[in-house]
Amino acid sequence: MRIGARFIAFGVVLAVMAAEVLAASDVRSVRLWRAPDNTRLVFDLSGPVQHSVFTLSAPDRIVIDVSGAKLATQFDQLALSNTPITGVRSAQRAPEDLRVVIDLSAPVTPKSFTLAPNQQYGHRLVVDLFDQDPGAPAIAPAAPVATAPQAPAAAPQTPPKLTPVAGGKRDIVVAVDAGHGGEDPGALSPVKGQFEKHVTLAIAKELQRQINAEKGFRAELVRTGDYFIPLRKRTEIARKKGADLFVSIHADAAPRSAAFGASVYALSDRGATSETARWLADAENQSDLIGGAGNVSLDDKDRMLAGVLLDLSMTASLSSSLNVGQKVLSHMGRITPLHKRRVEQAGFMVLKSPDIPSILVETGFISNPNEARKLASASHQQALSRSIVTGVKQFFQQNPPPGSYLAWLRDNGKLALGPREHVVSSGESLALIAQRYQVALSALRSANALRSDLIQVGQTLQIPTTALAVQP
Ligand SMILES: [Zn+2]
Repeated sequence: MRIGARFIAFGVVLAVMAAEVLAASDVRSVRLWRAPDNTRLVFDLSGPVQHSVFTLSAPDRIVIDVSGAKLATQFDQLALSNTPITGVRSAQRAPEDLRVVIDLSAPVTPKSFTLAPNQQYGHRLVVDLFDQDPGAPAIAPAAPVATAPQAPAAAPQTPPKLTPVAGGKRDIVVAVDAGHGGEDPGALSPVKGQFEKHVTLAIAKELQRQINAEKGFRAELVRTGDYFIPLRKRTEIARKKGADLFVSIHADAAPRSAAFGASVYALSDRGATSETARWLADAENQSDLIGGAGNVSLDDKDRMLAGVLLDLSMTASLSSSLNVGQKVLSHMGRITPLHKRRVEQAGFMVLKSPDIPSILVETGFISNPNEARKLASASHQQALSRSIVTGVKQFFQQNPPPGSYLAWLRDNGKLALGPREHVVSSGESLALIAQRYQVALSALRSANALRSDLIQVGQTLQIPTTALAVQP
């Protein structure tokens, strides 16, 4: 009986598969994204397909065979400049067997996968072409720039920031991460043609410009254009750039279009351990949201946020993150309404020893028509960036990293030290905090008008500066 039933079920599956193969999918459009080290082609399909990809050399080509597909678009609108692609051709080998040939000026390593429909897109076939020789002349921009180290231009808008200044006066490095990008548009705006990914990149670039204008600071963009970077690669890039702080820029969305206001997220080591474990297991299976595992929907925004935060948790220094987050939030609150007045904490455990303090800034609700318009305006982007920079600067003035220009200023009595603050994280006691800042427990108590040594997670403590001044 059981064998019979299984056989029948198997027969039904075959019939369904045959039906799917018979109804060929249309390739409705093709989109192209260029990243610093790869080119992504996305074929938009009317239904699922089977495919295979192989390379040919002399001349270099990539062949993509798509079975169960017909071409219902043209390739001539693709912007191929600055990519190793010199042309895209196609042939219908059988009524439902499409072959696409990509002509190349340099060899590439292809990687391909399919994606199931999400809110914005239907079925897709993604082909990533990784450069084998980054910086090869074939893929340099038309004008031959930036292959050799650049001499400083006469009067550059943003002064070129050079890496470590000798004598322990290095720049503090802020990694600025523009959320989403490329195939991942982020949240949708009611303003036509506006996506979260565009807003985040515009704000990130403005933030970089303002940070670079501050002596002793340098900003590094994690994403420099409209392309996708997997979550883990983002923190990896920040680490490689020697970041002292990681700031991820996003814009919020909610089903209720009236929702408004900015928020700042940091990590928490409170919260459900089992939830963390479940998320971790999921994340392991997923490998990345849309980086290649496929069949992962971007619909669940909370999941996206959770993913970013979970990845940050690999490196985050919790207390510093809360501290810098609170400062950024309070300055943002002067120029834009806040969604929540405190730094929000996601309930994930800090999984590794503290490394780079990290915050995630939701600059406003892009789903709110009024805020969407504001977020798109240059003046509001500048004001938002200014408030973030002010918070970041304040944090580093109070906590200058060793070897930095700010630390040098402080050690030479040239930095007006404001009151230092500490945001309590889980597991910390008043005695522990006093010890860390080398202040007397009684001084810490009186500076905060505490009647007992009971402190709460998230509470901001003033750290008296007296003891430090004695140190040479
Ligand atoms: Zn986002």
